[in-house]
Amino acid sequence: TSYGFREVNEGEKQGLVNDVFHKVAKRYDIMNDVMSAGLHRAWKDAMIAALNPRKEPGYTVLDVAGGTGDIAFRIVEASNRQAHATVLDINGSMLGVGEERARRKGLADNLTFVEANAEELPFEDGSFDAYTIAFGIRNVPHIDVALSEAHRVLKRGGRLLVLEFSEVEMPLLDRFYDAWSFHAIPRFGKMITGDAEPYQYLVESIRKFPNQEDFATMIRDAGFSRVSYTNYTGGIAALHSGWKL
Ligand code: SAM
Repeated sequence: TSYGFREVNEGEKQGLVNDVFHKVAKRYDIMNDVMSAGLHRAWKDAMIAALNPRKEPGYTVLDVAGGTGDIAFRIVEASNRQAHATVLDINGSMLGVGEERARRKGLADNLTFVEANAEELPFEDGSFDAYTIAFGIRNVPHIDVALSEAHRVLKRGGRLLVLEFSEVEMPLLDRFYDAWSFHAIPRFGKMITGDAEPYQYLVESIRKFPNQEDFATMIRDAGFSRVSYTNYTGGIAALHSGWKL
């Protein structure tokens, strides 16, 4: 479906995404609360519960599109500050905010921040126990490439977890959600950052992202086993899981 926004080609896509997150970096955390009506916190907590990070030093997680560090902080806390998390993002402004937050929280020793592209991870094969990505993969121009990179850098027995907006599977909720995302989100975006177009693009990117079943197939195609998913809030978000066996 096209909702009247112009089509964005893949080459242009990364540039637009980078533009959005450079602009919002400093206000990203408050934006998240406003735009998801606080729900992102519950979804992220559920993701960390599903991961159930080992509470031992040497357990390593790569959090891709980690932005301001939300997922990585939760993982480190849930491991009783034993785990090490690498926060990778293409955007230095987002990482900068994350590093500052990490220092304030006293978590800096458990975290490494890396500026890089999800499609070209600067790590050796078999480096991590888990790979997480929250609300990031739909921004990556070549999702298949990002997933095969995820598979490559995981150890055997490693876990992939992807949290992403998905297809709403509840009647009425989908109507409300359409109204919210097509009208409220660009408007809030404009209020907070002065520019609505990047948010229209982000909303559009949610519509274009494959539904739960199709995304599960992409994860299998990248080589993952025992692929499954769980819907959150009627499918507004879904958590996909896979294993490198
Ligand atoms: N994971 C964080 C969270 O849940 O709060 C941040 C999510 S934010 C909506 C999306 C992030 O994806 C941004 O920080 C953006 O810079 C990053 N991103 C977009 N394209 C990327 C790419 N190709 N490689 C790595 N990160 C990317």
